[in-house]
Amino acid sequence: MKLLEYEAKEVFRRYGIPLGLSAVAARPEEARDASMMIGRPVVVKAQVGVGGRGKAGGIKPADTPSEAEEAARQIFTMRIKDLPVRKVLVEERLIIQHEIYLGVIVDRAAKCYTVLASSEGGMNIEDIASKSPEKIVRYPVDPLKGMRSYHANTVAKRLGYTGKKLQQLSDIVQRLYRVTYEMDAELTEINPLVQSADGFIAADARLNVDNNALYRHKELEAKYLESFEGELTPREMEARTMDLTYVELNGDIGIIGNGAGLTMATLDTVMLYGGHARNFLDLGGGATPDRIGKAVEFVLKDGRVKALFVNVLGGITRCDDTAKGIIEARKKLGDNKPIVVRMMGTNEEGGKRLLHSAGIETNDTMEEAAQKAVNLAKEA
Ligand code: GDP
Ligand code: MN
Repeated sequence: MKLLEYEAKEVFRRYGIPLGLSAVAARPEEARDASMMIGRPVVVKAQVGVGGRGKAGGIKPADTPSEAEEAARQIFTMRIKDLPVRKVLVEERLIIQHEIYLGVIVDRAAKCYTVLASSEGGMNIEDIASKSPEKIVRYPVDPLKGMRSYHANTVAKRLGYTGKKLQQLSDIVQRLYRVTYEMDAELTEINPLVQSADGFIAADARLNVDNNALYRHKELEAKYLESFEGELTPREMEARTMDLTYVELNGDIGIIGNGAGLTMATLDTVMLYGGHARNFLDLGGGATPDRIGKAVEFVLKDGRVKALFVNVLGGITRCDDTAKGIIEARKKLGDNKPIVVRMMGTNEEGGKRLLHSAGIETNDTMEEAAQKAVNLAKEA
């Protein structure tokens, strides 16, 4: 989950990372009020989840409240890298002496967080890496020791700082590491970390939280789910309440698989034989007969589905459980639509026997089953 700049800054503020005065606005008049509250020249910044807003015109200076209102009005009409702007951050304008890059990333090879820092801030890290790779300081952090002050001091020293500035910078490095660790972040970034007459100030903020850890950050989890509203179709919303991984598509063949890879392969195979999938539905691992039955029922009830193709590789999900689920759904709905099943693996024989005695055929290969589903949908 990628937080917007202002959301990331709220977190950074809690951790004592120095920030300028700022306020969020959802309407131009609110930007005016914010600028009035700040009481000095500001920048108005588009809040979108992508970098490079500056170059795209999403960051505008304003000297007075009316200018801030006007700047916000313009920014709200923009799309930045195809994203609409719903909020702006009005922030006190900094007098920039120098810009530093500071980030903490997951270093998969080293299996730890690594601090990245560069005295060439302002541009993105990929550009710094290609233009002046020697100016990037990489500092892996031992996850057992954590970030100690002497580690952070080393980072600041390697950027060329000494004395009081070294201490200030080192303090920010430690705080950013703490945010990263405690928020279960995949990435944190301050770019630029601005050196001004008043010391260092984080002018921009990035915080990407690992989705698998969202259950430990309930308020973020709620926000994350909210962010899908309006993007999901009614059927997708319904599937979500049933805890099914479901994507609605435009065709007429309902697809149910277990595992995202197998389900995608099933979609591809149907397409290869000239068919069009109506949906992607991944049962996940270890689905019970009840869960499978609900999924089958959910897809069969879809008015646009003409045939259903269930493709299950029995592992933790058992073939006989799959058969029971299908039969249960069929009992409820009646024999209203053709069902094509390909199953193999755990309890395959038992599953096939159950289906055959319920009058449902099975196929040995995915290709064979896909062709059958395509033909049945065409005939329907
Ligand atoms: P990004 O382009 O989306 O990464 O947005 P940033 O927040 O990093 O801003 C891009 C650039 O705009 C910075 O590198 C600064 O040069 C400039 N900028 C951002 N905030 C301020 C500010 O408060 N004062 C001044 N003078 N420049 C700013
Ligand atoms: Mn930036």
